[in-house]
Amino acid sequence: MAPSMPDLEYGQRGYVMKRFLAAALALLLALFSSSCIRLKPGYGAEEPPTSPPTQSTQPPTEDTTSPTPDSVFPAWKDVSENAECFLTDTQNAVVDCTKKEYSYLEMAEDLEQLCKKYPKHLSYSSIGRSVAGREIYVAVLGNPDAPRQILVSAGIHAREYLTPLLAMKQIEYMLAYLDTGDCNGFSYASILQKYCFYIVPISNPDGIMLSQEGLASLTDTELSNGLISIYHKDFAAGLTTEPNVNEYLKYWKANAVGTDLNRNFDALWEQYDAISRPSMLRYKGPTPNSEPETRALIALTERLTNIQAVVCLHSQGEVVYWNCGQSAALSADTRAFASMITGRTGYRLIAEQNNDASYSDWCALKKDLIAVTVETGNGTCPLEIDQFDKIWKNNFDLLLLCAIYFET
Ligand SMILES: [Zn+2]
Repeated sequence: MAPSMPDLEYGQRGYVMKRFLAAALALLLALFSSSCIRLKPGYGAEEPPTSPPTQSTQPPTEDTTSPTPDSVFPAWKDVSENAECFLTDTQNAVVDCTKKEYSYLEMAEDLEQLCKKYPKHLSYSSIGRSVAGREIYVAVLGNPDAPRQILVSAGIHAREYLTPLLAMKQIEYMLAYLDTGDCNGFSYASILQKYCFYIVPISNPDGIMLSQEGLASLTDTELSNGLISIYHKDFAAGLTTEPNVNEYLKYWKANAVGTDLNRNFDALWEQYDAISRPSMLRYKGPTPNSEPETRALIALTERLTNIQAVVCLHSQGEVVYWNCGQSAALSADTRAFASMITGRTGYRLIAEQNNDASYSDWCALKKDLIAVTVETGNGTCPLEIDQFDKIWKNNFDLLLLCAIYFET
């Protein structure tokens, strides 16, 4: 059955006015925030390096001018009921959302199965290999010759492995309703003709498997020994109190050599200064773009010719980050786009500028792209699977809406 999608506000005169006001506000905000740029860690969505991790005592500032869900999507609750049915109807589902530790192998097998089930609309390929040699896959959903692209990165922080599950279920949802789904007058089929979604469900395969399975996930002794050494240094520095390396690795965010991939991009990299050696989180690497996983995302981004927006899925805080000091015009566009996401999800729009050599920073500062970081969960990572229902309700149609946004 087709999901009963709401009659959204997009395209209506009121919404156009809201976007205009949002753009004007963003300009003022950019002028204001340029005096308080933060280059050091401690940003609210990234908790301090303790184990188990704790919430930051200094939450970021909410931009309270962002719209409420009801004002952007008056009927979105009706839609969530349909999405809930989709989530609980596991009989024909490929992606199983009942298990917390959705592994790299399961993701790869699900991609294969979904491609067999929907061969006309989904394919996948490798965009590179991780440090330990795992392929990094991108799912290509929709018309590969479409004039516009939406790019999504999930699973770049190891312990945030509910985001690959979300991304994979979003793919399955769009495919399942491809022939019948309609959103604000746009059929899913028409959106997937005009847009191609490039979705990297697991951007950090080694890190995610380390967080889920510990050292047993590696076959390379040298890498394992390196991680044991990093554990002892983090322990000595008081960054963890876990009594053994595998318990410590559950809270791992980095890749297999202790580089935080989302601090490794060549975007004000020199100014980011958190920790000077490999660690469970926040080590930016020896040089910008030093890691193969980083370079794989860069190569994919540079290969695509007409990216409308980049969405980075993370797991901490139910907030949306968008401000990294973009040019004025891009800043206004990015804030308006981020406001659409907070309007849909109910997440908080963060006002402050933040620079931490992340993928979204690089997309915005080096490629002039609209790029946002969406923190989809709340609490200590790795999140428990019982959070997934809420995450799903807030995000199941998010990628479609990211495309429809540009049609209005
Ligand atoms: Zn993260």
